[in-house]
Amino acid sequence: MSVTATPSSGSDTFPTGAWELPDEFRMLADTVRRFMETEVRPLEDTLPHDAAGLPPELLGPLQAKARAADLWALQTPAEFGGAGLSVLGQVVVAEEAAKCRMGAFFPACGAFGGNPPTVMFSATKEQFETYARPIIEGRAGRAFTAISEPSGGSDPARAIRCRAERDGDHYVINGTKMWTTHAGSAAWGVLYARTGEPGRRDGISCFILPNDVEGLTKFPIDVMTSYAPYELHFDNVRIPVANRIGEEGQGFNLASQFLVSGRIAYAAGPIGIAQQALGMAIDWVKQREVFGSRLADKQGIQWMIADSEVELRAARLLMYQAAWNADLGKDVRVDASVCKMYGTEAAYRVLDRCVQMFGALGLSKEMPLERWFRDLRVKRLGEGASEVQKMIIARELLR
Ligand SMILES: Cc1cc2nc3c(=O)[nH]c(=O)nc-3n(C[C@H](O)[C@H](O)[C@H](O)COP(=O)(O)OP(=O)(O)OC[C@H]3O[C@@H](n4cnc5c(N)ncnc54)[C@H](O)[C@@H]3O)c2cc1C
Repeated sequence: MSVTATPSSGSDTFPTGAWELPDEFRMLADTVRRFMETEVRPLEDTLPHDAAGLPPELLGPLQAKARAADLWALQTPAEFGGAGLSVLGQVVVAEEAAKCRMGAFFPACGAFGGNPPTVMFSATKEQFETYARPIIEGRAGRAFTAISEPSGGSDPARAIRCRAERDGDHYVINGTKMWTTHAGSAAWGVLYARTGEPGRRDGISCFILPNDVEGLTKFPIDVMTSYAPYELHFDNVRIPVANRIGEEGQGFNLASQFLVSGRIAYAAGPIGIAQQALGMAIDWVKQREVFGSRLADKQGIQWMIADSEVELRAARLLMYQAAWNADLGKDVRVDASVCKMYGTEAAYRVLDRCVQMFGALGLSKEMPLERWFRDLRVKRLGEGASEVQKMIIARELLR
């Protein structure tokens, strides 16, 4: 992947006004768009509306094509064998890759994989080679991340109760994790458990958790989307000390390193989906006739389209600005929270209007909008809910 640079204009100020993406990023978007049109959507069209993902016999060859097109391991830094795409590049890819029916959960239906959990970039060489390298090289599927618990997900530093007690050269794990995506299928994941004082950030450690350890039981949780999160029960699960990532008590700090820029890319998918939905709604209202004229001629409909366009333009500029600043190495705590909160909320509002413009058809499983609507509802909660982003923005401004 050639687009690894920080903003290429050399400017340290995000250009506003009549701005568009630099050429290299527009070419990247074109490449992803073509891949989606020729490779991804035809496969997706062969599956039922609510299919959770592509079956292995379709996903494997699709991922091979993505690797051949240099659309692989995009978030993984080059020194770890990934493409090392800039944050701006990542949002450009994520925005385009979400424009398919399964786009909210599996950007490009899972085609553009190859990224281990970011905490693995702090792993030892041996841990990395054993667990992360096979993912980057396409020899293994994705891994899970288990943070949230029944006691809460917004404030894990205080809420994590799952305990890891040192016992010689092992840790003994007891407790419960909730909502762990991919825990049913992944061969391993990363687990955040308490090794120190309750309620303290420095009391949490991170471990590599193989999925087949004795004492671990998994229960699928039925949620409104095609996500398949799991509840994990740990009953005296023993994992070697060698599976701890970083120092004891440093788990939370390691996780936080990539958290902020991850929020920027998280907003890109919902924004891409909302753009796609708005395009479909615009085509629809130009054809549909009610009360003697096209829906497109009604002011109430025009306002829905205008409001949606305004919100999407704002969301995209906030997202590109946050990514631009992240690539310049600026402190983007506020930018990332503004981008995540506004992007996911605006995308949801746009999708709601699009469903409304389609009428009953918008709620039908004939259309991807029904699925997108449920998927985007989740995005307002995941990766730090909107209220948490507001809390961060206000905290930084009031500091
Ligand atoms: C489909 C799905 C997949 C998931 N996948 C994973 C996964 O793979 N791994 C994982 O660890 N977790 C996962 N989660 C969990 C997710 O990260 C949490 O749901 C999220 O962090 C919120 O935590 P909570 O549900 O416990 O809500 P709570 O933390 O109990 O919050 C409840 C409500 O209170 C609000 N709130 C919180 N703080 C404040 C405040 N200061 N002021 C005002 N309001 C506030 C929240 O925004 C939320 O609306 C997943 C969740 C879902 C639904």
